[in-house]
Amino acid sequence: MKLTFEPLDLILEMPFTIARGTSLQAENVLVQIESDGLRGLGEAGPSSFYGEDRGTVLVALATFSGQLGHDPFAVESILATLDRVLRHNSAAKAAVDMALHDLMGKILAVPLYKLFGLDRAAAPRTSFTIGIDTLEVMAQKAQAAGAYPVLKVKVGTDDDEARLRVIREVRPDAVIRVDANAAWAPRQAIQSIRRLAAYDLEFVEQPVAAGDLEGLRLVRENSPLPIFADESCVVAQDIPRVADAVDGIVIKLMKCGGLRRALEMIHVARAHNLKVMLGCMVESSVGITAAAHLSPLVDHADLDGNLLLKNDPFEGVMVEQGRLVLPQGPGLGVERRGR
Ligand code: MG
Repeated sequence: MKLTFEPLDLILEMPFTIARGTSLQAENVLVQIESDGLRGLGEAGPSSFYGEDRGTVLVALATFSGQLGHDPFAVESILATLDRVLRHNSAAKAAVDMALHDLMGKILAVPLYKLFGLDRAAAPRTSFTIGIDTLEVMAQKAQAAGAYPVLKVKVGTDDDEARLRVIREVRPDAVIRVDANAAWAPRQAIQSIRRLAAYDLEFVEQPVAAGDLEGLRLVRENSPLPIFADESCVVAQDIPRVADAVDGIVIKLMKCGGLRRALEMIHVARAHNLKVMLGCMVESSVGITAAAHLSPLVDHADLDGNLLLKNDPFEGVMVEQGRLVLPQGPGLGVERRGR
């Protein structure tokens, strides 16, 4: 199989701010794997928080290119080989995993969700994320996102309560979840969550630092709202460690290394009685659609990375009345926009 890759520059419609910084664009990488005249697509959306950037992805992919063998259906052994030649580099691995799955679907002429044995009608709603900004801008964005019945609001500012109040005013019926991106110390998190709970929130994502499992447990024991781990739960091996400190986990293809690893994580999480949300980085419709094909298995989705883009070159999964609508073409079912 032939692996090729190229930079994929994604520009955000508006600057996107979370507790640890602002992004204006994403320097992703588009991957193609060719076999017998068919081509599978994948995407890497590297995150510096997890030690990757476009440079590391390009180096990893160059390292992987001679390691794929000839059989796209041998995904497990191919991924084991990639893990052997290079540790970590999960976004680069996710891109290869996605392209192999796209290829398998195209060879068999079935969409990915069918390959996974899933019911398209069971895809959940996705949230639409409101980044940190001034009160006015956040309220305006929440109102403009009227087509999305579920909002995810980024918190961790000096006045989250005022922000939630204005958002709740303009969106009285929305389901609202919040994400602190590790911004709070445990005691501060408990106080903040107790105050914010007055605005009828669904759950809180990552209140405290990634490595602070004691803090996470303390927050959960004292929180009126369910707590989800994102930065504290990267791969399947993290799940037993966080299981008694949270109510749910956030799985992202770019954190764990692709669809196979995400599927493992879903099963491990279920075995620990945890809720599951599928999340994303800033990604085009290639990466977002890949994750969406697993979404019938999870409780919540936060697959809006493509919705925040000015220039998504691809189209695949759609959102109707907030619900993810999976494409029915073979594999990922993703096409170049305008085709
Ligand atoms: Mg998060």
